[in-house]
Amino acid sequence: MTFNIRMFTAAFEKLDSLIEEKKDFLTNLDAAIGDSDHGINMRRGTRRILEKIRDKDYTDCGELLRDVAMTFMSVVGGNIGPLYGTFFMKIGQKLGTTAEVSTEELADAMMEGLAGVMSLGKSSVGDKTMVDVLDPAINAFRENASQGGEIAWDSAVAAAEKGMESTIPLVSNRGRSSSLGERSTGHQDPGATSSYYLISSLRDAFFDEKSSLD
Ligand code: ADP
Ligand code: MG
Repeated sequence: MTFNIRMFTAAFEKLDSLIEEKKDFLTNLDAAIGDSDHGINMRRGTRRILEKIRDKDYTDCGELLRDVAMTFMSVVGGNIGPLYGTFFMKIGQKLGTTAEVSTEELADAMMEGLAGVMSLGKSSVGDKTMVDVLDPAINAFRENASQGGEIAWDSAVAAAEKGMESTIPLVSNRGRSSSLGERSTGHQDPGATSSYYLISSLRDAFFDEKSSLD
């Protein structure tokens, strides 16, 4: 089973609904260790992404993901806009002009996206950021890719959830929360939480669209 343009579009629709539902929660997480804008930033980003991609008839994944990336970079400020922007830009560049990709190809592309985030943010696992979700989720996805999309996506979401929870006891090393030092412990990282929503949305889009094709 492959991943296709329709699944990407559906994933951004799902992410937008989830962010709408959780925006106050995300903002409250950011209020505890940041500047109370993560829900607002993500909300602005996903809404503008939908406006941009909804009526366009994409024929390749690269073009769609470039539009998503450019939207994050141009309309979402702060640290998070360029980080998610880079993530999607690198994935799109790797996928290129193809309408659908294998689970293995998507795994390789997401690894590039992860590397882009880590390099831009100078962040690694344990720094209490979105990387604490994206790294284990994408690695689990890649490790299970040969077993098919269903197993790969379920393992990615399970790893993402664990990664999100793992940020609670951590001391922040990156981003605004790092200025709190030890006082950042005991709080779940907002960016790790939105990354969990992203991985869940991709998984749900895969299963929904797949069953409509079965
Ligand atoms: P800002 O930090 O500009 O207020 P947001 O509040 O929208 O932006 O996003 C904060 C999230 O961004 C953090 O919870 C963290 O997950 C992520 N983040 C911040 N800096 C970095 C970094 N250097 N590397 C990886 N992720 C980061
Ligand atoms: Mg913030």
